[in-house]
Amino acid sequence: MIHRTASSWQRNDKKDHRISLKEINTPSLTWQQHLQQAVTEPTELLSLLSIPHEHLAAAIQASQLFPLKVPKTFLDRIEKGNLNDPLLKQILPIGAESLVVDGFSKDPVEEQKDQPAGMIQKYHGRILLMVNGHCAINCRYCFRRHYPYADNRLNREQWQAAFEQIASDDSISEVIYSGGDPLASSDKQLHWITDHLAQIPHIKRLRIHTRLPVVIPHRITDETLEWMSSTRLSTVVVLHINHANELNDTFLRKQLHKMRLAGITLLNQAVLLKGVNDTIEDLTALSESLFDAGIIPYYLHTLDPVDGAAHFDVEITKAKALHQQMVARLPGYLVPKLVKEEANQPSKTSL
Ligand SMILES: *Cc1c(COP(=O)(O)O)cnc(C)c1O
Ligand code: SF4
Repeated sequence: MIHRTASSWQRNDKKDHRISLKEINTPSLTWQQHLQQAVTEPTELLSLLSIPHEHLAAAIQASQLFPLKVPKTFLDRIEKGNLNDPLLKQILPIGAESLVVDGFSKDPVEEQKDQPAGMIQKYHGRILLMVNGHCAINCRYCFRRHYPYADNRLNREQWQAAFEQIASDDSISEVIYSGGDPLASSDKQLHWITDHLAQIPHIKRLRIHTRLPVVIPHRITDETLEWMSSTRLSTVVVLHINHANELNDTFLRKQLHKMRLAGITLLNQAVLLKGVNDTIEDLTALSESLFDAGIIPYYLHTLDPVDGAAHFDVEITKAKALHQQMVARLPGYLVPKLVKEEANQPSKTSL
């Protein structure tokens, strides 16, 4: 008896030791290292998540259409062996991506037409800058899965031209950093851009559209908080979280809390995705978890009809019905606006 008690105590001690080592080691990697160590090989993904080998051929094929990319910090939130995991579905390349479906195309929102490099101005008062073409994660439903990122990165001269253009148009009061993911750029560069924009008197707000802090929470460094909060501009960070499970990360929640303490407004945009968040339970849980984490739900987008993502599409009547159920169940401030992106409109289209 005594012997068995002693050995089971030793086993527990060993286990605790492993857990604490992981906790100490993980935050010591920089966000750039987490990014470099992202999983890009389907074989590695399947083995890390205990997904049966029979899914490998399809994953390899689909990853040739749009590469697999997912940092381990995101994989930690996926349940091993569960093919229906709502986070797994967002990142696992599957056979359905090669289906050709009517109404789905390579540039569904017609962003590639008539725009100067690196800038998109579609709506009054707001200009969107493509700060960085890279993302920390490749989301299978992304409308930019065919976007020519590399053509749209600005060099220093082009940045100067962008600043001049923004300075010459005093109808612009808000600059939006987008991409790709703008936080894939260094804090040094983002600080430099922000300082230039803050010198333009008619710019009031800086908005950053990013998924990076959700995927790699280490992305929010002291330097990040410094440039975001020391500028005279009001800073709004619009995160992209589609399922409450994405917030199941203590370190992420700490990081979000720090951003709130630094005076940064946190909003969220989600995409309504079949098999990921298209039930009233998932959508209410998402809103509740966002608010718990200090984030206000802003938009719920319908899927942009991009080639390779048709299997994520939720019918418009179902989307509207789900939204109505949210209205009936939640306080108004927890109901995101249900919107659709349409070409040649003065704003997103409310549904
Ligand atoms: C979505 C979007 C915006 C921001 O629209 P809001 O309704 O203000 O969130 C701005 N510019 C472009 C090109 C966009 O696609
Ligand atoms: S992070 Fe955003 S832009 Fe990048 S792949 Fe995902 S949805 Fe697309």
